Amino acid sequence: MSSHIALHLDEVRQRIAKAAAEASREPASVALLAVSKTFPAGDVRAAFDAGQRAFGENYVQESVAKIAELADLRSEIQWHFIGPLQSNKTKVVAENFDWVHSVDRLKIAERLSAQRTDGMAPLNVCLQVNVSGEESKSGVAPEEASAIAHAITALPNLKLRGLMSIPEPAATLDEQRAPHKRLRELMDTLRADGLELDTLSMGMSADIEAAILEGATMVRIGTAIFGARDYSN
Ligand SMILES: *Cc1c(COP(=O)(O)O)cnc(C)c1O
Repeated sequence: MSSHIALHLDEVRQRIAKAAAEASREPASVALLAVSKTFPAGDVRAAFDAGQRAFGENYVQESVAKIAELADLRSEIQWHFIGPLQSNKTKVVAENFDWVHSVDRLKIAERLSAQRTDGMAPLNVCLQVNVSGEESKSGVAPEEASAIAHAITALPNLKLRGLMSIPEPAATLDEQRAPHKRLRELMDTLRADGLELDTLSMGMSADIEAAILEGATMVRIGTAIFGARDYSN
């Protein structure tokens, strides 16, 4: 039933290795986040058995149920929350996840820090940036990123790791590269400004190569590993 997952994971690892070679980068400098939203715990387990350890989820209720179902693997899996996050859901996320990529307001960061469970490691976070400039997209405007990033570093239970983006889909490699380049340049600026950031979370199934050519250190891949998503239930 889930043997395709091991094969697909292998294909994705090969795409990463090839793109890294083209960019003269080490394949190990690109972490693979397997995005398991809408897929059952059994599929996560199949990917785990094929060596995958980092998983991304978008929906709070769905992910918490899945994390509970996979409690036996909890110490070995890294759970990353990558979906839109409302303030009334921050507590559950702060208590259950290792990373949040979708921080797009200081208020959300403050709540995550305040609600992080005592004794747990700091929650790793990325600031989501809107690099496409679409009105409808979430993420902070590039001009606002520096001020918010600095404010996040003052929060005790968060560790700001870097930037994340979800650019508009684009057909050609050059068009795909442009927004990824903007995110990388923004991260370079923030680092030059003294922030210690090591994560550029960008690239999905359709644009892994463009993201890696522009410096992605973590690609978030769902469809190419688990298949097409069915939202009907
Ligand atoms: C669903 C999702 C992905 C994975 O997208 P695919 O195109 O299926 O690889 C990556 N990042 C975010 C934020 C997502 O919501």
